[in-house]
Amino acid sequence: MPSPAFPPDSSCTWGPGPIHGCQHGADVPRNQWGQGNLRIDPTDATGKLYALPRVSTLAGQLDNKGGLIKWAQANAVRGLAVSRALRDRAIVAVNAGDDEGLKAVVAEAESKGGSTEAADRGTALHAVVMPALITGQDPDVDDPAMLDSIQAARKALAEAELTPLLMEQFSVNIQAGYCGTYDLLVKHQPTGKHYVTDVKTSAKLNDRNYPHKVAIQLACYARATRWCPYRGLLRSPEIDRIKGFLLSLPIDQGKAYLDPINLELGWEGLQLAQAARSFGKTKPLGANGIHIETDTKVPAL
Ligand SMILES: [Zn+2]
Repeated sequence: MPSPAFPPDSSCTWGPGPIHGCQHGADVPRNQWGQGNLRIDPTDATGKLYALPRVSTLAGQLDNKGGLIKWAQANAVRGLAVSRALRDRAIVAVNAGDDEGLKAVVAEAESKGGSTEAADRGTALHAVVMPALITGQDPDVDDPAMLDSIQAARKALAEAELTPLLMEQFSVNIQAGYCGTYDLLVKHQPTGKHYVTDVKTSAKLNDRNYPHKVAIQLACYARATRWCPYRGLLRSPEIDRIKGFLLSLPIDQGKAYLDPINLELGWEGLQLAQAARSFGKTKPLGANGIHIETDTKVPAL
């Protein structure tokens, strides 16, 4: 859906002049490049289409891996401890060998207090906040809490002398092997530096309390070039690789937290995430294992 946030003369080009946002990020084919009438670009030396993993997928490689995310695990345990229903569901999932079901329970436990309704509100806020920040105009919503959040976000950015320039730009880094869409690109008026910014809208400040995944994602975007599925690579402002920002807007609180994020640490995290991804594709289970079955049945719950 074309956003009213972009001026009518917006074009997706590499050429000189003011940089307007590319609005075609949603048209990038999933898991495959260059489908249909899309320009097949970039391709590798043999003309083969690149298939790049999403930054969010890469950063997610560090989720639920042993002690790497102690905070999230502790949170999940707390959630399971206070909710009999969640604990029962977790036990059922474990006994059934239902990994996906268990993941869902853990995710729910981690964000305990985050209902489906809260998740929907977070998504709605996310959808209205970026155009509102770029255009400076309030969205046409009859929702005082959302307008308060937008107001708080504007104040935080203004205090940091950051001007939002571009939103939701699909970017690629072929050499490092990833792609993804960042939320916001802001310009620091006193220095002219550009910073990539992640906008989080949820009931809880999970990403602020455990910003490692955000740091990885921002570090990736800071090293990526904008790419349009119709025009190919697009000229992009040089983005600072040392620092990014996390803008947290907890829903219905009228609050904004603008935190600098260390992208050098984030880049280190990406190396870990890529190593974890490679390791996840190995096959440590050897051949000819021994498997004994007895008549004992797991009692039904
Ligand atoms: Zn475009």
